Amino acid sequence: MRSADYLKKFWPVYLVTGLLCLAATLAADRTITTIAQSIPIVRYQTIVIDAGHGGEDGGAVSCTGVPESGINLEIALRLRDLCNLLGYNTCMIRTEDISVYTEGNTLAAKKASDLRQRVRIVNSTNRGVLISIHQNTFSDNRYDGAQVFYAPTEGSKELADLLQSNLIMSLNQNSHRNSKPTNNVFLMQHIERTGVLIECGFLSNPEEEAKLRDGAYQKKLCCIIVSSLSQYFKT
Ligand SMILES: [Zn+2]
Repeated sequence: MRSADYLKKFWPVYLVTGLLCLAATLAADRTITTIAQSIPIVRYQTIVIDAGHGGEDGGAVSCTGVPESGINLEIALRLRDLCNLLGYNTCMIRTEDISVYTEGNTLAAKKASDLRQRVRIVNSTNRGVLISIHQNTFSDNRYDGAQVFYAPTEGSKELADLLQSNLIMSLNQNSHRNSKPTNNVFLMQHIERTGVLIECGFLSNPEEEAKLRDGAYQKKLCCIIVSSLSQYFKT
């Protein structure tokens, strides 16, 4: 593809990359949020951001002992800031290290309640689009790269395909992954909105685990997610 064609096809990626660089020059992420919330624009589209796991459910554990739930939350909060900066409404499933269950006495019952609550929050939004943030692990620590899954709802595969190709183009150039439908993921099987689940990388791979814990890398990930959303809404 000629460079002019690249520019034509991927202009939202370049636009958001530029905006992210501008945002990154600001002193602190809280500054970005303050600025974003003060921008007087019509916010027409809601992005539901789900930081996977939380509270008693830490999710996977990284090769250096860091729980997935904390990394998911860091990325989710950065994604919220960037979405707000670019004019999207955001709906956060959680903003702290908590589970969102409303009932149950055992861990299993609380987990089931937590997942039902996440579904309820997504379905209560007006045409919200779900971005669920998770991290992968595998017994063989050679594997790396992001993997995008999609719900069986309208628009989900299209969004997942955009995300997967943009992640490969920007972060995982050696990856040959394709987006995949989710199987037996309660949240994704029960939402009535467009939704994708992003396994941002492998916490079992030492090199990628270090990147996933790094703020600059997390910002890159969020930039790719938001630019993919922009492309998705444009088409
Ligand atoms: Zn997870």
